[in-house]
Amino acid sequence: MPRFYRAGKGGETRTALNRLPKEPFDIDEVFRRLRVAVSRLPRAAMFELRDRGYSSPFEQLVGALISARTRDETTIQVCLRLFEVARTPRQLLDLGEDKLVHRLDGTTFASAKARDLLAISQRILDEWGGEVPDRLEELRSLRGVGPKIAALTLAIGFGRPAIAVDVHVHRIVNRWGFVSTPTPEKTMLALAQALPERYWIEINERLVPFGKFICTGVRPGCSTCPLNSICRQIGVTNPG
Ligand code: SF4
Repeated sequence: MPRFYRAGKGGETRTALNRLPKEPFDIDEVFRRLRVAVSRLPRAAMFELRDRGYSSPFEQLVGALISARTRDETTIQVCLRLFEVARTPRQLLDLGEDKLVHRLDGTTFASAKARDLLAISQRILDEWGGEVPDRLEELRSLRGVGPKIAALTLAIGFGRPAIAVDVHVHRIVNRWGFVSTPTPEKTMLALAQALPERYWIEINERLVPFGKFICTGVRPGCSTCPLNSICRQIGVTNPG
């Protein structure tokens, strides 16, 4: 007897197209399929930088800040250009604001990000002897550092279990019906309860490319999606 998903109380919308029999939601199976689905897609910027050797906590912190409201392709190019000359707080401060802004050319809000990066570097030198702090609260106290940047730094820079939730992660796990949350911040809290810790770092790595190319914001590619038989397609009214 096929199992059908019963819509929850979150006001979700289901259409005839996505009212198909669904398999039980098995998170291990979801990740198995996700790994295959994104294996040939461009990697999320911070994981691409990690795999190119820029995996220190400072490089991940800087990269995550640069990536805010900036395309992954641009983030990678800008970070590579910056890391040619500055990979530590001291080197970044020595660069100075004008040269730093020049190196950040192409990213959004280059001047503001340059000021944030200089302030962050100075604090890291003054308060933590040049080492990026490894506690969420301390990271969040740095200028311009929100929950996603702090989580990426902890997860990739320190290899600590942390869930970095961006718009893609937030949208997709809600469409799955895995959580039912109105904001990325609440999604992060819900995932901390629902998602096994072994997937905390990986979820961002898989869902950023999956969200850019398959489960897109508008007209997600449900008809060819490898998760179609599992995903509850919550709120999806115009599947591709
Ligand atoms: S593309 Fe469709 S079926 Fe696949 S995860 Fe997104 S909403 Fe679910």
